[in-house]
Amino acid sequence: MKVAVIGAGQLGRMLALAGYPLGIRCEFYDRSADTPGGQVGPITTGEFDDVAKLAEFASRAGVLTFDWENIPVSSLEPLAGLVPIYPQPAALAVAQDRLLEKTLFRDLGIPTPPFAPVDLRSDLEAAIGRIGMPGILKTRRLGYDGKGQARIRTRADIDAAWAALGGEALIYEGFVRFSREVSLVAVRSSRDETACYPLAENVHVDGILAETRAPAPRSSALQRTAERHVKAVLERYRYVGVLAMEFFVENGKLVANEMAPRVHNSGHWTIEGAETSQFENHLRAIAGLPLGSTAARGHAAMVNFVGRMPALAGALAIPGLHLHDYGKREARPGRKLGHGTVVATTARARDLLLARLRRLA
Ligand code: AMP
Repeated sequence: MKVAVIGAGQLGRMLALAGYPLGIRCEFYDRSADTPGGQVGPITTGEFDDVAKLAEFASRAGVLTFDWENIPVSSLEPLAGLVPIYPQPAALAVAQDRLLEKTLFRDLGIPTPPFAPVDLRSDLEAAIGRIGMPGILKTRRLGYDGKGQARIRTRADIDAAWAALGGEALIYEGFVRFSREVSLVAVRSSRDETACYPLAENVHVDGILAETRAPAPRSSALQRTAERHVKAVLERYRYVGVLAMEFFVENGKLVANEMAPRVHNSGHWTIEGAETSQFENHLRAIAGLPLGSTAARGHAAMVNFVGRMPALAGALAIPGLHLHDYGKREARPGRKLGHGTVVATTARARDLLLARLRRLA
């Protein structure tokens, strides 16, 4: 089975690595060859709007998927007659636009922060009047890892937020005073099978995921609600593949922040910490194979290496550390270069290892 993957970042790389033992081969398409995915599988280089080149690439595979969320949906749609595309472009289109995404959640009865579309400065004034402050002004499209966002704490912040983002299609959201952030990674197969991983608890620094612990402590009631919410989205699209949803926990209740129609950073712990990794289950789902168990094998923690990789010898001195270096040549501030995972039999032992792992980051 050959899987065509548009985007050859670290997510694509880990998909390919999960595919090899099963005899599933991933081939990549990206702008440059020296990418995390291109280092471990064949790669075609081209622009993301070169539909002819994408069509030639897609037609060689049994199924098409993507590891990057900002692929123009207009580039995928013409490929639909050539090869099955999973997850479905309709779900991708909604996930690419924060306003459509939050509107979908609201339609499905999934709680969200209060939100309002903002195109003009007067819309922002009206949104603040209705929702109040503090809040966050975000671009509707192309925002990730905290980019394209401006906090508005008091009226004094409005000018700077508008100067930074005004002119684009925006959304204003009320600020959620959350006690913690959690995410649910779920998978639905083309055979209608659905499975959910245990909730993960995430810590973000400057809008970028810093660390994940899974299963999230004290989360059995939240797990049931999170699964209901994610399954509502899966059913809406008859979705195929991995879908991740991020939530705030506010006063003990889930408030949905966003969804990612792909394998997700908060699911990297599943490589060593679950019976079947999110990457393998994504491949199983899109290839029409039975899903693997999503049960945790213990208590896992994952730490991202952002902007800098730790020295290999120091990292490997931590007992049981699983190190992942994405092979990126250029280290830039804010760029995810790798991650480390530890798995222990108790939450306490995991937290002790996590303390050591944090010092590497
Ligand atoms: P996002 O790009 O929307 O995932 O935002 C990145 C991070 O910013 C989130 O994980 C939160 O830590 C924070 N954040 C985003 N939106 C809100 C909000 N409405 N209220 C509070 N914190 C937020």
